[in-house]
Amino acid sequence: MDPIRRCVQQLARLPGIGEKTAWRLTWWLLRADDELVTELSEAIGGLKEGVVECGTCCTIASSSPCSTCSDTRRDPALICVVERPQDVVAIEGSGDFRGFFHVLHGSLSPLDGIGPDQLRIRPLLARLDGVQEVILATDPDVEGDATALYLARVLKPLGLKVSRLAYGISVGTEIEYADRVSLMRALENRRPL
Ligand SMILES: [Zn+2]
Repeated sequence: MDPIRRCVQQLARLPGIGEKTAWRLTWWLLRADDELVTELSEAIGGLKEGVVECGTCCTIASSSPCSTCSDTRRDPALICVVERPQDVVAIEGSGDFRGFFHVLHGSLSPLDGIGPDQLRIRPLLARLDGVQEVILATDPDVEGDATALYLARVLKPLGLKVSRLAYGISVGTEIEYADRVSLMRALENRRPL
């Protein structure tokens, strides 16, 4: 296939990039420095090779255990449960959280065939030794709420304190797109479930 059309076709498969933008990017790349284009293609090409799923928190990282799970200055009594690896980055960016994380890789959605077994719930239950509080930081939408309620029902009988992020300003936003201050407040004002 013609290399220009091939590039457009591949770029247009990315989220948020329509055919028009794919054309614009392709023309831009054609005029860009060789070095930039090489580095970009190498970064994309090497992306999947260097990453693994952390055997403890299930996030996507360059090592297992990941750097967060290996950080001994964190509070082992506190775990924050999120839907996606990007949410870990967002909450870390809020600067205030000093516990550990657990990534579910999605939320409960029976209509899409996603039940508890499709999420990383079992690995969560396997690492609760010494944990006192679990903060449920799933998204403030129907699936995120259902997931939080399900987990609360499983975790509370184990004698754990279970809380949910206090949403307010950030209702309707996915955690990964919430701003730093909203996330900090949501963590501070978390409420028991
Ligand atoms: Zn980890």
